[in-house]
Amino acid sequence: MEKDCSVKSRRYSRQLSLLGVEGQNRLDSSRVAVVGLGGLGSIVSQYLVAAGVGHVKIIDGDVVEPSNLNRQVLYDEESIGLPKAYVAAWKLRSLNSCTRVEPVYAWVREDNVESIIGDVDLIVDCLDNWETRLILSRYARSRRIPLIHGAVESYYGQLYFYIPGESACLECIAPRASRKGGVSVIGPSVGVVASLEASLAILYLAGREVATNELVIIDSRSLSIDKIKIDNKSCRCS
Ligand SMILES: [Zn+2]
Repeated sequence: MEKDCSVKSRRYSRQLSLLGVEGQNRLDSSRVAVVGLGGLGSIVSQYLVAAGVGHVKIIDGDVVEPSNLNRQVLYDEESIGLPKAYVAAWKLRSLNSCTRVEPVYAWVREDNVESIIGDVDLIVDCLDNWETRLILSRYARSRRIPLIHGAVESYYGQLYFYIPGESACLECIAPRASRKGGVSVIGPSVGVVASLEASLAILYLAGREVATNELVIIDSRSLSIDKIKIDNKSCRCS
């Protein structure tokens, strides 16, 4: 394929009428950090790169294991034992060589979040634990960076868009008890939440209005979607 990195490249022809040239230009000049390259991050990163986001930072400190393959669609049997960030970068660059894909093979912690995430336009939470999510939320709040939260467990998924100053932070909507370790999940349930995270990210970056004060709960078994209004006054932090 001939390399064409302009916003009017044929690769974007099916989305251009929806996002507009200005929206596509905005995507092209955007920097996004995808934190976690498991089931959610596998899909979110692919859609962001495919859509033409200019700079995608992909962050994960893990290596690929056989138990990942039912839902982490960036990886295959050849990837077992390799760092997810590096395998993902290789795959994503082959999907769109016009996007700058920056792999970070590390776990996000309180003492390195600044150096790892740095100055981006948007953070997408594709993690599997609340401890790290809350580190992300505090960083997002301190730097005024919007954060899209997604999480999945069994058939349920949730989605929330945190814009510092406009909506309640993750710390104020987080569950009291947080389960750790591998939860049970089927791949497509992760895909539903990941697709919605990516969709929100693309629309937001392209300059479209998005809902920021509701927690969306998705049940992939009954096919129901519920929205819970979150009062921004419930946030004690901003
Ligand atoms: Zn708060």
